[in-house]
Amino acid sequence: MKYPLSLSRRDLLGRLAAGLSLASLAAADRRAHAAAESASRRAQGATAADIPLLDPNSPPAKAVGYVEDAHAAGAVAQGNTCASCALYQGSYGSTQGECQLFKDRTVKAAGWCKSWAPQM
Ligand code: SF4
Repeated sequence: MKYPLSLSRRDLLGRLAAGLSLASLAAADRRAHAAAESASRRAQGATAADIPLLDPNSPPAKAVGYVEDAHAAGAVAQGNTCASCALYQGSYGSTQGECQLFKDRTVKAAGWCKSWAPQM
């Protein structure tokens, strides 16, 4: 059986590479936007302590399985906490800080969610 639309391997790989590039650019744009918002709030004198903590029972938190204590998450490897996540915006040694996933909310440094990503 012949399919009317067939992509060559080269076309397929090219489209895949283009898609991955766009996804990377979008992720970088989101990070830059979150960092700019965070800098803006700090310029206005706000600290992470001024921003309310994320409610673990809120729909956005539940969507990514956020918990305030990483040890409460059964699948979490030792040391994978918000404090060691690439999306965490809190300063070194902070107990809570902003996360690029959640606008206008902070997360516990000891927390964790399914979107945890290693720092580069
Ligand atoms: S993305 Fe990272 S910093 Fe944000 S809640 Fe998940 S583990 Fe914590």
